[in-house]
Amino acid sequence: MTETERLKEVGRRAGALVVGVAAADAFNTYVPEGHRPQDILPGARSVVVAGSMGPTAGAWQCPDHRVMEITGYDFRENVAIHVMCDFIEREYGYRALQAPSLPTSGHTPPMSMMLAAVLAGLGTRSLAANIVLHPEYGMLYYAALLTTMPLVPDHPLEKDVCPSPPCVQMYRKLGTTPCLAACPAAAGGCLDGAIDADGRIAYSYYDRERCTARAMTFGISGLQKALVQILTEDDAEKRRAMIYSDFFTQSLSALSFYKESVAQCFECMRVCPVGRTYRKLR
Ligand code: SF4
Ligand code: SF4
Repeated sequence: MTETERLKEVGRRAGALVVGVAAADAFNTYVPEGHRPQDILPGARSVVVAGSMGPTAGAWQCPDHRVMEITGYDFRENVAIHVMCDFIEREYGYRALQAPSLPTSGHTPPMSMMLAAVLAGLGTRSLAANIVLHPEYGMLYYAALLTTMPLVPDHPLEKDVCPSPPCVQMYRKLGTTPCLAACPAAAGGCLDGAIDADGRIAYSYYDRERCTARAMTFGISGLQKALVQILTEDDAEKRRAMIYSDFFTQSLSALSFYKESVAQCFECMRVCPVGRTYRKLR
């Protein structure tokens, strides 16, 4: 086993479903200064990306969609990244740190996990909110680490995962795909797109602000909205009811555990055929 293969195996044993490697330099073509691996870890040479399933197959099948809010995010990819960081530093003596992926301003994180996943050959962007689809598993959650260790990089996939063949067929007949039909921008949703004669994405549109308001109703955004309403409510009884409401309680719970707050809408992915095999068990 090479050092790169050994490291990937450590990540998989720690809970990652897939692990890929990108060269740190590969980001320079796509991102501005300040967001490149070397800006975050001076001397960074490699980026290791771990992906894991979010919601389990069972969670996808639950008829109450709200269950997805509390069962979908268990951070296995983050655990795998921490374990691989420790392994690199203790076993090989190179520096490693988890890539910062939560926004520090607006919705922009210091580093894009989507780009990291694409450059590490784990998937390609889709018509559904640009979500990166793995060719076998479909939607995965991604985390990454930066390291000064030289590793053998993977390469971006040569074939686009989206649109999948059944989606191309549907588009030819109906002018839409499952995800676009689930959330059409023209009818108050967030998505629009077109597929060209070669069956590739010709155009895609994603209204991120609208999606955030629809998909992330609990968590940071929900709490901020609720606080403004509570603080500007003059009626003491109403204020009390708002504070003890299910909504406010769930918003606090989401923040406390940072588990329920990730997303409350998976509809564009629920209908996506990529990875469906793994969401339909017995
Ligand atoms: S997550 Fe929900 S709101 Fe956002 S694009 Fe998908 S279906 Fe639309
Ligand atoms: S349903 Fe999935 S594969 Fe089909 S177009 Fe949408 S994201 Fe792409």
